[in-house]
Amino acid sequence: MEYKYVESAPIKTTDQDPFESMMARFEVAAMLSDLDPGLYQYLKTPQKQIIVAIPIQMDDGAIEVFEGYRVIHNDVRGPSKGGIRYSPHITLSEVKALAAWMTWKCAVVNLPFGGAKGGVKCDPKKLTKVELEKITRRYTANLLEVFGPERDVPAPDVNTNEQIMGWIMDTYSMHVRHTTTAVVTGKPIFLGGSHGRVEATGKGVVIVTSSMMEKMGMNPKDTRVVVQGFGNVGSIGAKEFEKIGCKVIGISDVSGAYYNANGFNIRKAIEYRDAHGGILEGFDSGDKITNEELLELDCEVLAPCALEDQITGKNAEKIKAKIIAEGANGPTMANADPILADRGIAVIPDILCNAGGVTVSYFEWVQDRMGYFWSKAEVFQRLERILSEAFKDVNDTAEKYNVTMRIGAYVLAIDRVAQTLKIRGIYG
Ligand code: NAD
Repeated sequence: MEYKYVESAPIKTTDQDPFESMMARFEVAAMLSDLDPGLYQYLKTPQKQIIVAIPIQMDDGAIEVFEGYRVIHNDVRGPSKGGIRYSPHITLSEVKALAAWMTWKCAVVNLPFGGAKGGVKCDPKKLTKVELEKITRRYTANLLEVFGPERDVPAPDVNTNEQIMGWIMDTYSMHVRHTTTAVVTGKPIFLGGSHGRVEATGKGVVIVTSSMMEKMGMNPKDTRVVVQGFGNVGSIGAKEFEKIGCKVIGISDVSGAYYNANGFNIRKAIEYRDAHGGILEGFDSGDKITNEELLELDCEVLAPCALEDQITGKNAEKIKAKIIAEGANGPTMANADPILADRGIAVIPDILCNAGGVTVSYFEWVQDRMGYFWSKAEVFQRLERILSEAFKDVNDTAEKYNVTMRIGAYVLAIDRVAQTLKIRGIYG
């Protein structure tokens, strides 16, 4: 099965404007940390919002013009970082929200990056490879003064992949007249990618969950884990949970959910998935249950690693896990937060829990700039250090303000960005 590294973040496609939805959480944290009103204005405003026209001669000779976006939310802590998505439904508001999300996520794990996001309004399913390459190259050329290892570093996101990163890297390199691998992350290893990138997010989920288990005095041997989603994050997360001695009693994917009270053999489940078109359909090492039943299973750790909005105001009452580890982006709806908090369920928020991905993206950028590459063991050792420190920082902040880990993570992120901004001062 082919894995794709993404640096995406939740989008609220429902009734609320995505940027407003992001701001609602930002405001709670800003109020708690007593953020100066001027800094509040500064941080809620993206630094740059760029819309570019991308005219392309299609394979049939006709000219079509696509629209491309890049939003730099903030770069006070370093070059901005964030993925590029290709989608027919993308909007500037969505890109703005996702860019801000990246600022907070990078600050939570204390990476020297700001936040950005980009995209092109197009349907890759309807484009040929040649058309896709032309769009990518023209989009990159139009944003030549924006991108750069010291300025803004894109990565893959929804519907973009290693190949598209390769074209971006090549186009940028042609214009600046030298090979510049550090201009994008998410590249194949032979093109300056990093070892451990594929495993990074799932491994990260287990690193921070282990810290939480230790804090709560839980022994991995007595810990039953349920994982929703069996793609990159879910299957690698499940494997890592098994490795530390936990029993993975529930797994699921788009084909349904599976339960085995004695624990699954995750290696076998992965082999089955890979031999069956990437899904678990027909997997008979456990009982087939519904997605609702999976989420409500009696277990110690529930790791939603698939989709947004899975834990809601409706099912939050029925969740039995002691810890929710948000491997996916935005799996818990805002209205579920207070219910889970009242019931004493510890939620490790997405901007901490799945930050292993962006952390190894940062390692890729560092290695490209050095021109010296680390072993997988070195990558994992450094990942472990960064995420363990981030867990401690988020936990300390949450305790200091007597709030949940989610709000603690936001307060920490906003504090870090605001502190840098105060010392740098406002130019002009
Ligand atoms: P993926 O495409 O590899 O896997 C998604 C999994 O979810 C698949 O097993 C799919 O079958 C399953 N799924 C889809 N619909 C489902 C449904 N209705 N019920 C149950 N399962 C369903 O994606 P991924 O890379 O593992 O990403 C999963 C989540 O993690 C997303 O929210 C993503 O934004 C987030 N995330 C991923 C990374 C990364 O490095 N891959 C980094 C940060 C955050």
